[in-house]
Amino acid sequence: AEMFGQLTSGLETAWNKLRGVDVLTKENVAEPMRDIRRALLEADVSLPVVRRFVQSVSEQAVGTGLIRGVRPDQQLVKIVHDELVKLMGGEVSDLVFSKSGPTVFLLAGLQGVGKTTVCAKLAFYLKKLGKSCMLVAADVYRPAAIDQLKILGDQVGVPVYAEGTGIKPSEIAKRGLEEAKKKKIDVIIVDTAGRLHSLLSVLLSALVTTFNIEIGITGAILTKLDGDSRGGAALSVKEVSGKPIKLVGRGERMEDLEPFYPDRMAGRILG
Ligand code: GDP
Repeated sequence: AEMFGQLTSGLETAWNKLRGVDVLTKENVAEPMRDIRRALLEADVSLPVVRRFVQSVSEQAVGTGLIRGVRPDQQLVKIVHDELVKLMGGEVSDLVFSKSGPTVFLLAGLQGVGKTTVCAKLAFYLKKLGKSCMLVAADVYRPAAIDQLKILGDQVGVPVYAEGTGIKPSEIAKRGLEEAKKKKIDVIIVDTAGRLHSLLSVLLSALVTTFNIEIGITGAILTKLDGDSRGGAALSVKEVSGKPIKLVGRGERMEDLEPFYPDRMAGRILG
């Protein structure tokens, strides 16, 4: 399944209604705008985001007037394309690394979204950029996660720091970071249960107080782009959280992680 399949065909309905019109007007874009609205809502884009999007697109559509050599339906496609790019943050957003000492990446997210897989994919990705990495197994609530991380770490050739399940995630993270400092490793990626409270305990009690490091949510990783979720998250994350999507996962293989390019994504959505 393709994440944006349904959205793509929903949007097509809108352009198709403008075949043969000479110029975009308030009257003839009204129905296509309802189609766009419906398509976005069906893709699970958040309602305030949809409202702002539709308003901005219809203002531009009506205000643009006739462009020589461009069919009105294509004109609307172009406006929607540019607005989608803007919605997804416009530019590629690079990962940020700390200037001194190891950079720590922590992943938040519900169980099953692909955090453990992303840890290993991210290590593999960063290795190719010349960074040395270490994985830290701090998902102590799911014993299988630790084994999974060890297997994946082996597969991508990255060491995995683990202490088992009887220990607080914050303690494991702390000692993992100490180990990384000793070994002059550039990046540690901490696999946690992903719930906010376990993340905060790792951050606040272990890393911030002990190492006085700066913290913050720097961005999102969109997983399972190859899956059948409806794609709304891709379009809502930036607008709703203010944080950009930095990377996308599009499969189960270790090499299936790549930078998020808003313009390419908009192109895919428009089919
Ligand atoms: P966690 O509970 O968040 O740590 O999730 P896992 O990393 O264990 O992933 C849950 C399942 O999703 C596993 O079967 C993964 O192989 C699978 N998975 C992870 N990322 C992707 C992806 O990008 N595409 C697909 N199709 N499956 C993925």
